[in-house]
This record gives sequence, structure tokens and C-alpha cells, in this order.
Amino acid sequence: MVMETKDTMDAIISLCKRRGFIFQGSEIYGGLAGVYDFGPRGVELLNNIKRLWWKANVYDKENYFGLDSGMFKHPRTWEASGHVGGFSDPLAECRTCNTRVRVDKELAAIGINADEKMSEQKLNELFDENRDKLKCPKCGEKNFSQVRSFNLLVKSNLGDFTSEGNEPVYLPGEACQGIYLNYKNIVNSMSPKVPFGVAQIGKAFRNEISPRNFLFRTREFEQADTQYFIRPHENKDAFEVIKKERWNWYVTLGIQESKLRFKQHENLVFYAKDAWDIEYEFPSGFDEIEGVHDRSDYDLTQHQTFSGIDLSYIDQETGEKYIPWILETSMGLGRVFLAVLCDAYHEDEMDGETRVVLKLKPELAPVLCAVSPLLKNKPELVAKAREVYAALKKEFGRVMWDDNSNIGKRYRRQDEIGTPFCITVDFETLEGDTKDTVTVRMRDTGQQLRIKTNDLVDFINSYEIL
Ligand code: ATP
Repeated sequence: MVMETKDTMDAIISLCKRRGFIFQGSEIYGGLAGVYDFGPRGVELLNNIKRLWWKANVYDKENYFGLDSGMFKHPRTWEASGHVGGFSDPLAECRTCNTRVRVDKELAAIGINADEKMSEQKLNELFDENRDKLKCPKCGEKNFSQVRSFNLLVKSNLGDFTSEGNEPVYLPGEACQGIYLNYKNIVNSMSPKVPFGVAQIGKAFRNEISPRNFLFRTREFEQADTQYFIRPHENKDAFEVIKKERWNWYVTLGIQESKLRFKQHENLVFYAKDAWDIEYEFPSGFDEIEGVHDRSDYDLTQHQTFSGIDLSYIDQETGEKYIPWILETSMGLGRVFLAVLCDAYHEDEMDGETRVVLKLKPELAPVLCAVSPLLKNKPELVAKAREVYAALKKEFGRVMWDDNSNIGKRYRRQDEIGTPFCITVDFETLEGDTKDTVTVRMRDTGQQLRIKTNDLVDFINSYEIL
């Protein structure tokens, strides 16, 4: 069925709420813009994505270490990273494509005498007077927000800092800083040999001017990052390997390759050697889900300068001393979650009815299998179904007991949350040649198979459950 872009996204958002994937944050108080909560189904899908990411980036690697650093960090961290100083420019955002522009620079470019030291009010006046001449550099629209002196960091407070110097502490603007702060601890405790990597999943908070597109641009989100520490100048080949690995990981999630693309950054920050985005084709078009960055020795050098601690690495065999260069991957979990949902969402016809189905890989599905008695008022069916349920639940965990409504409605509901296998205990399970077999109904095809109860675990495992 062909659907309009907006309709597809609206249908996915509605499914997310109806079936317990995603809820608006603080909904009973009218909602909090840019914050979403993962419901019972959503948290399972999210955890499955995280598990597969961790497997690929820690367990499948020989030289990567996991980390989980504290969210609060010493205030110097965000000065060293450039976040405190770097986001305080007068900004306006294009309401059409989200591009932010430096208002002073845009005005200067059309010959207006403006600079960043002017008051916000003065800049706003100049900006308003000249709006009709200012076009978004990306999409060409003349649809800007008001001017704001804008810092993306979210301020918080902690006793030690606020009482002494009234110094704010910040929630993390990006999760990866915890890796740099612990680089020396990891070298000292794990004695890794360069090249080695550190992987971390962590929350990030940004005061986005206009959160939008559901999970795509939020104010609180989670990032899954790797930092690969390499010898100086040995970046090029390793960077290509990492790019390929990250691409392949999305393919293993089941995402259609035709919906993925790499996009190289045209304007690099001064220290960067190379930078690419991995983009997914959402219903609204291609957009970034992950950044892959070749960052030289910038991050560790900055923290060495600000902390006064020597962060060089000493090669135990050769005695060579250097600050490692870093290759970074930074993935937004909310955006990948949304990409997985968009990719899995289908409307098709089955048994003469239109149905909504999430064609998620079994590894990702919130519920791996649902177990039902054919009739819930037949104690012998219920008892046998309970037995099957208990055995599968023990094995896989993500197993649901489902005796609601009739079997057709059950299938539709399970299709909507992407359950790959619906298992029904019926009268044939109880007697005759078919004793101790159950019906397994396959989500994608509607095919019904007769499988021995003792073979169920192997049958499900044959679908590569991790
Ligand atoms: P954008 O240009 O879209 O604001 P970015 O280039 O600033 O993103 P990075 O700082 O490189 O993003 O962060 C790495 C990843 O974190 C992004 O690829 C994205 O998946 C995710 N991310 C960044 N900002 C947000 C946000 N506001 N909401 C959800 N995810 C985000």
C-alpha cells in the first residue's frame, strides 16, 4: 500500500503509543517538549539494539573495552571539549531544515555592520529588518526563528561547585567525554596496546532550539560511542575499516541497504582529518543516524592541557611516547530505534484483511514468541499451554502469555508489535498422532507449522536468536 510520507510517520507514532513503544515525556502534565519515554515494548526493542551494538563493539572485538562513566563531570571537561565556549554564538535556526546560522555572520555577509558582541536585542532588530534578504544556506528558505545567544549545554548544579564559586555543572552534551576522562585509567588498569578501543553507551542532553521529528531531535537522548586510539598518522586504513564495520552492523539489524548512505562532511573543523555521517532514509528523507569521525589527537591534547596531566601513551616495547589519535563512532540510539521501526513497518493484506506488521528480526522483536491456548475455558489446553510457556520463558525471557480475545485478533496484535512466532496449543496437542505438537504461526507469511513441543527451542534458535 502506498502511503504519503507524513501518513507513514503519523502511523508509526500512533502505533508507538497504542502498543506501548514510546510515550510523550510527562504526558499527564501536558508533555515536555523533546523528551520521550520508552514503554514496555519500546524498552525491549531499545535493549535489543543496545545488546547487539555491545556485542559487535565489545564482545566480537579483541581489543575494545567497555565503560560506563558518571554523567556529571568536572566543569573543566566542557571547557576542554569546546562546549562551554563553542556554542555561545547568536544563532537562528531555519524552521524548514533545522540548519542553524550565525546571525552576525549572515548579516555581515550582506553588508550590515553586525558582530557577535552586540546585544541579543540589537541583533534581533537588525535580523528582523533584513529578514527578507536572508536565506537559509542549506535549503534556501526564508523561514528563520528569532535570534538567541545559544548554548546547547544543559546546566545543573552540584553542592561542591555551586556553593564555592557558583559554577554550574553540566549534564553531558555528548556521552563520549567520559571515555577521554578515563583514557588514562584504562591504560593503567588494562595495559592495552595501541591500537585499542573503548565503547560506551550513555545519555546526552542538549538544549535543542526546536526539538522535532519525534525521536529524531530530542533534548535528552542516548548515544552509543566508540573511541579507537591509534598511533599518530595511522588513521586512513583503520578509518575505512571502521566505516565498513558500522555500515555492516546496520545491515545485520535487518535494515535495507538501499535505505542507508554515507555522507562526507564538506566543512571540517580545523583538527579533523575526515568525517562522515551514516544516514537512513526516513519517510521525510535521508538524515543522520551516526557520525564517524577521524579526530587526530585533539581530544586528548585538550584534556591534557586543561587538566595538566600527561595523557601520552608509552609503548612498552619501543619506548615511543605519543598522544594517540582517535577514530570515533557516535550513534544516536533514539534515531536508530526510529530507523529500525520505519524499516520494519509494513501494511499488507493477509486473510483478506489489511494488517499492520513490524517485520523486525527476531533478535530485535520486543516479544520473541507469544503462547496461547486455543480456548481459554478449556483447562486441559490452558495447562498444556502454561507448560510450553514456562519452558520457553525460561529459555528466552522475551516470551508472552496471550489468551486475550480470539485467535485472529491475537495474531493482529502480535503482528503490530513484531512478534515473529505465535504458538498455539490446540486439541491436536493433546492426543492422537499429533500429540505434543503445537501450531507455530509465522508473522511474515502467516504460514502455520506443526512443531513438536520438544523441538520448539531449536526451531526458534534456528532463526539466529542471539
Ligand atoms: P545534528 O547535526 O543532527 O544535530 P550532530 O552532528 O550534532 O547531530 P553528533 O554530535 O555527531 O550529532 O552526535 C552523534 C549522534 O547523536 C548523531 O548522529 C545522532 O544520531 C545523535 N544525536 C545528536 N543530537 C541528537 C538529538 N538532539 N536527538 C537525538 N539524537 C541526537
